[in-house]
Amino acid sequence: MLVFWNLNFFVLYSVPDYQLASSLAHFFRVGSLFLPAAILHLSLVLTGRPVRGLRLVTLWIDYLVAFLLTLVNALDLFVLELRHFAWGYYSVGTAFYDLFSIFVVVNFACAASLMLFDYTRTTDPRMRLQFKFWLLGVAVGLPLGVTHLLPAYGVPFYPLGNLGSAAWAAIVGYAIVRHRLMDIDIVLTRGIAYVGAAVVVIGPTLAATIGLQSWAFGVVHSDFTATMLLLLLVVCVLFPGLQQQAERRLQKALFRRKYEERAAFAAFTKSVVRILDRDKLVRELCMTVRSLFGLEGIALFLKDPDKTHFQLTGSLGTGTVHSRVDADHPFSLWVAQQPGPTMHSELPDPRTDIHAADIRDLWETNRWEVCVPLVSRRLLLGFIALGRKLGLDAYSAGDLQLLGALADESSIALENATLYEQLRKSHDVIQRAGRLSALGTLAAGIAHEIRNPLVSIQTFFQLAPHRIHDEEFLTSFLSLTESEVKRICDLITELLTFAKSPTPSLREVDVGDEISRTLTLILPQARTRHVELTTTVNGSIPTVLVDPDQLRQVMLNVILNAIEATANEGAVHVALSETTHQDKRYCQIDISDDGHGMSTETVDNIFNPFFTTKTKGTGLGLSICHQIVTEHGGFIEVSSKVGDGSCFSIYLPTAHEARRAAITHESPPPALA
Ligand code: ADP
Ligand code: MG
Repeated sequence: MLVFWNLNFFVLYSVPDYQLASSLAHFFRVGSLFLPAAILHLSLVLTGRPVRGLRLVTLWIDYLVAFLLTLVNALDLFVLELRHFAWGYYSVGTAFYDLFSIFVVVNFACAASLMLFDYTRTTDPRMRLQFKFWLLGVAVGLPLGVTHLLPAYGVPFYPLGNLGSAAWAAIVGYAIVRHRLMDIDIVLTRGIAYVGAAVVVIGPTLAATIGLQSWAFGVVHSDFTATMLLLLLVVCVLFPGLQQQAERRLQKALFRRKYEERAAFAAFTKSVVRILDRDKLVRELCMTVRSLFGLEGIALFLKDPDKTHFQLTGSLGTGTVHSRVDADHPFSLWVAQQPGPTMHSELPDPRTDIHAADIRDLWETNRWEVCVPLVSRRLLLGFIALGRKLGLDAYSAGDLQLLGALADESSIALENATLYEQLRKSHDVIQRAGRLSALGTLAAGIAHEIRNPLVSIQTFFQLAPHRIHDEEFLTSFLSLTESEVKRICDLITELLTFAKSPTPSLREVDVGDEISRTLTLILPQARTRHVELTTTVNGSIPTVLVDPDQLRQVMLNVILNAIEATANEGAVHVALSETTHQDKRYCQIDISDDGHGMSTETVDNIFNPFFTTKTKGTGLGLSICHQIVTEHGGFIEVSSKVGDGSCFSIYLPTAHEARRAAITHESPPPALA
């Protein structure tokens, strides 16, 4: 369209003959009349806005205006005459021309505002770059394009629009090639394919239109020819979409049931891959199959972990009476051999199979009609047993085929869910191992911490009989004992809480409180190693939505590492503050030490499980920390320099931020082990 626009002016400036210039401009104008609508359309697509509702209506109106203006142009009501300027002709328009000028300005302004709006909002660097070049192109091209208004209204100013559009195309083209903003191969192949197809279709049609006109009327009307071509273009553009839609609708009308089945199947397979909870999966599967086929009842049996039997894991409706089937029951062995869904009529024959009676007995007691094995990697995971259909219809071959496909998808999903469950269990085991290892490190310090006051108390009891009347001795010692005993109690409480197997639960917690509780546990260790442990809290810090046990585990691991990295007389500092990162509010816990620091190679590996540089290290601490923090929607940053020390910054979204993310699903809500 831009090409048509340029050609329109090109012929006006360069063709000296009035009549020829007038008719050529008349012809090329048709293409340019659609430019404003197309620009708006393009900007909607480029900014990723769905073209629906009000936007769709606006676009339709836009294209309709363009189409009406094309008719106006065909009726010769668009341009009054051509005025001659020093550089060539220029059109003197009618009121429709003014309308078109407004149409251009409004559409271009809307498109530019959309881009500008998104440019200021988007956080995607690629999109920003795309918008930047577009806007730059528009900023150069639009003012030059506006110069066209001057000669149109009699001012003899050379219109610079061609230059503007060339500059715009050059800037956008540069951006595409330089920054690979579009897949250039696709652009090229699509472009060539479109041009090729257009030449193949339009060439002969043009020849036929001209030939037929001169044969039938003796003259060739350029307007008629242009309109025919335009209609052809519109048909070419609209046809594929319309054809697809028509096909879909026809299929829906003629094969309604089949269509619905297919849609339900597609929806099920789409949702099923995301379900990692086995029970939920079983429920979903039973509900889908039951409603899809309109069944009286359905039952789903899955192999028990000890593999001795198949357990009824989900059922709906009536029928099934057995809640388990032994793995060595003839029925189980028979199902394992079935390649797909099997009907009652396909049960083994009692005359040829000695187990047939047992199989039939189980089947008929439960009033099953169809049995579908669930097989993954050639292993029978379980089976689905289907009762009669509600309308007493028979199962068709199509039904069995669909059931087979459903079973294949479900088997994969069920196996995934089982694997996921196992993964979670091993994850729990690793976390517990991490805790125990941290406890092991703490033990020596804690023992020391408890022994010291106990020795003082023992001394008191030894001295007491001799100084029983010494008032001062008694008061000072009693208060000292009280505070020491309280400290030991606190320490033991923390120790027990930390050691107990965690039952994760999200709570709104004050990070400052959790730091103090962690320090209770860790101070003895710092003291034994002669490390000074200090904290600062910057301002009032908002709460976070975390599992407090896990938060303490994270801080404990990182502080323990810091203490271990620090030599005698060293210092570890814990600072708590609030910060913003990518427009989100976080609580930031900085744990810095002046220890031996880490090389960049070590830093690259610290979060890998089992990576350790210590002779007695497990290498689990930081990998667990990373996992816990990520599950809570946060992240950890590390800076370190060999010889100078390290700083671990833990970022956790504030409770308010975490709730917002859970509502808008910006990031998955925290999943806990
Ligand atoms: P472990 O403590 O059992 O070695 P971690 O996962 O806790 O396992 O830590 C992994 C490694 O990261 C440590 O072996 C150590 O090399 C390094 N590291 C962690 N924190 C620090 C720190 N504050 N200063 C120096 N090195 C550290
Ligand atoms: Mg560690």
